Amino acid sequence: MPSDPTSAAVLSPHLWLPFTPNRDFARQPKILAAASGVHYRDTAGRPILDGSSGLFSVAAGHGREEIVRAVATQLEQLDFAPTFYRAHPPGFEAARRLASILPEGLDRVFFVNSGSEAVDSAMKIALAYHRARGEARRTIFVSRERAYHGVNLGGLSLAGIVNNRRAFAGALPGVPLLRHTLLPGQRFVLGEPAEGAELADDLLRIIASHGAENIAAVFVEPIAGSTGVIVPPRGYLQRLREITRAHGILLVFDEVITGFGRTGQAFASQSFGVVPDLLTMAKAITNGVIPAGAVAVDRRIQQTIFDAAPEQQIEFFHGYTTGGHPVAAAAAIATLALYEREKLFERGRALAPYFLERLATLRELPVVADLRGYGLLAGVEFAPDGAPGARGYRLQQTLFDAGLHLKTTGDTAILAPPLVATPAHVDEIVSILRRVLAAERV
Ligand code: PMP
Repeated sequence: MPSDPTSAAVLSPHLWLPFTPNRDFARQPKILAAASGVHYRDTAGRPILDGSSGLFSVAAGHGREEIVRAVATQLEQLDFAPTFYRAHPPGFEAARRLASILPEGLDRVFFVNSGSEAVDSAMKIALAYHRARGEARRTIFVSRERAYHGVNLGGLSLAGIVNNRRAFAGALPGVPLLRHTLLPGQRFVLGEPAEGAELADDLLRIIASHGAENIAAVFVEPIAGSTGVIVPPRGYLQRLREITRAHGILLVFDEVITGFGRTGQAFASQSFGVVPDLLTMAKAITNGVIPAGAVAVDRRIQQTIFDAAPEQQIEFFHGYTTGGHPVAAAAAIATLALYEREKLFERGRALAPYFLERLATLRELPVVADLRGYGLLAGVEFAPDGAPGARGYRLQQTLFDAGLHLKTTGDTAILAPPLVATPAHVDEIVSILRRVLAAERV
């Protein structure tokens, strides 16, 4: 690797980065060249603390030997196998391990390659289920303002982020949105807000105007992640569960960010005590090292879909060439074993109060407009500076230069340290944030 980060070999105009202002990036590139533990290194070898687990993926920390070995061994044993009309041993084992940490009954696993694919697959499972029950009219999906459900056309249609949709006419029309749950009185509330459960009753209004018999499913992130960390009000998810159940509507939790210990339990479903009918996951399923995702499906839903098809006939006409790839399955098995052996979900749960308390000390800085969080997931919202998102974009660069990698969305920084982080890492995150944010004029 060339040691000069600006050399032509590193900065090639052929690479088009996603969700990035590419032209500005070329002027001030931020390049990650290596990683271990909770640190990245740039091309000059400078350590950069990983404040958002890569992109909410690297829960067990970087460079985990056990996963590297499992991947290498699998590549030697069976480098690829199709999963149409065929299966392989690690596929079964990965599904079995996932089932052992998923909520009771939600134990049928359909593998895909990403969060976006998991969302679109869940939409199709919901449609197939209703059709199998003779309710093919149920085709409407309900989502929520400030939701992110990936970028494929299905999930994009569900997303309540207008910027992501604006350029792409042709998304599914007619997705009614619940209001988001960030009420004005909730500034600087950490954990579940006490007020706002009744916002779930928006679903009753949507049912009244569209007819329950036309609605297939409601999709929500238990905690909205990419749109700035919005923690559900106490009782909100329970209420959604009651209403969906009463009206034959499926409830889908998109746990692509909240899965795998981020909220102190394996899944947010368990932290909030609400079991959905379908649950999507990705990212930390393999600690980020190999692309993978999955939909966990209530076994009764799978049974209904299977029962509607005669023996020897395909039950579900859907799948991806590389979904459930043997190498991804091996990475998932090794990752799940690590989570269990090192008790990383408990470890994250134990660190969470300290993480949230220390972050809360930033509220005294004038530029900090709000602070929200649950478990090891928190949003620090900045006062805007000119155009919305301008300060967030600038600060994300400055923080990187100061040695902290994190994800910003608009004017909110999203913190999600690896579950293996220590109180000292938390102190370092907060101290870099404090130093950089203190210099901001409001
Ligand atoms: N759903 C949620 C809740 C997400 O946060 C994301 C990605 N951040 C996705 C879906 C899409 O996942 P991917 O980028 O792996 O397609």
